Amino acid sequence: MSVEFHCPSCGKKLFEYEPRMRKYGPLTEDCKSCGKTYIDPRRVELSLTGIPADEYKMSPYVFILVIGAFLIWRGWYMLGMYQLGVPGPMQKFLPVVFIILGIVAILASIYEIIMIKTGGKAKKMQKLMEESRQRMKNHAYVEKLKDLGIEVPEELRQ
Ligand SMILES: [Zn+2]
Repeated sequence: MSVEFHCPSCGKKLFEYEPRMRKYGPLTEDCKSCGKTYIDPRRVELSLTGIPADEYKMSPYVFILVIGAFLIWRGWYMLGMYQLGVPGPMQKFLPVVFIILGIVAILASIYEIIMIKTGGKAKKMQKLMEESRQRMKNHAYVEKLKDLGIEVPEELRQ
């Protein structure tokens, strides 16, 4: 379910977003309409929240892997069948799309699992954390956060 976000100052609709999706980066953004600064609800500032434990969870990728295998199996099965109500040239189209999507899903999830297992993901998160710590040394940014109701602990500011 996507949620609409309106500028807290002028009320203009700025974007729609998925609350479950998150991006790591600066929390503040300037409204394109009125120019006032707002907190972007899509963003997470890692040095304030810490690295979310579910970044290292493998179950979502195992789930995608299983879905990928299922798509390939379905596609393979459909390739050998005549589908009623599907025009001739289209007969092979859907099964091939299933198989390609399945392969992409499997490769992408295996990549993510390897990244978690080998520490590549941890390295990436550490890099994002370091970028976040650097932002906390930016006095103007910290002041903006404070104005918008987000306190930055003293130890992060130096
Ligand atoms: Zn605005």
